[in-house]
Amino acid sequence: RALLDIEQLRATIRTVPDFPKPGIQFRDITTLLADPAALHGSVALLAEHARASGATVIAGMEARGFIFGAAVAIEAGMGFVPIRKPGKLPVETIGVDYQLEYGTDRLEVDPDAIAQGAKVALVDDLIATGGTALAAAELVRKAGGEVAAALFVVDLPDLGGAARLRDSNIEVHTLLAFE
Ligand code: AMP
Repeated sequence: RALLDIEQLRATIRTVPDFPKPGIQFRDITTLLADPAALHGSVALLAEHARASGATVIAGMEARGFIFGAAVAIEAGMGFVPIRKPGKLPVETIGVDYQLEYGTDRLEVDPDAIAQGAKVALVDDLIATGGTALAAAELVRKAGGEVAAALFVVDLPDLGGAARLRDSNIEVHTLLAFE
């Protein structure tokens, strides 16, 4: 049963030019989240990919990966691990630093949140350069898990992120692309 037409899903995503800086086409999922069919349909499709990948748990990257990731976890009957921006967790964390266009950023996780050998499906709203997802994958491995798959609603293929992940042997699924 087709839960959702992908072109209908695409139409729920708002494009905001020149945000957060000139030349960037920001693909805003706020409008997708407000549409019940698009929200449930996209979550159900990501959950199917999560199950098929053999994942045992979902991890989502702060902040929009929390929205989709937690929903996918519930839909797939799995638990959820938040991958956080630095300084948010009240315990000693495991962290990974990664390069941005200007400067560096960091992701952190509670070391107790990922069981040894857990098969983790990463979830975020969008993959651009893949820098965030590669750092999250490194973090999952550092915490003792394996990356079963990386799942995104939106792919920006011109930025090469999905290809970078596949080059490092990560299974990638995206629901739609903006060229
Ligand atoms: P990257 O690490 O380059 O793959 O960037 C992915 C992260 O940045 C995701 O968490 C996205 O939510 C966000 N992001 C990057 N580019 C865009 C864009 N054009 N529109 C919306 N979000 C974006």
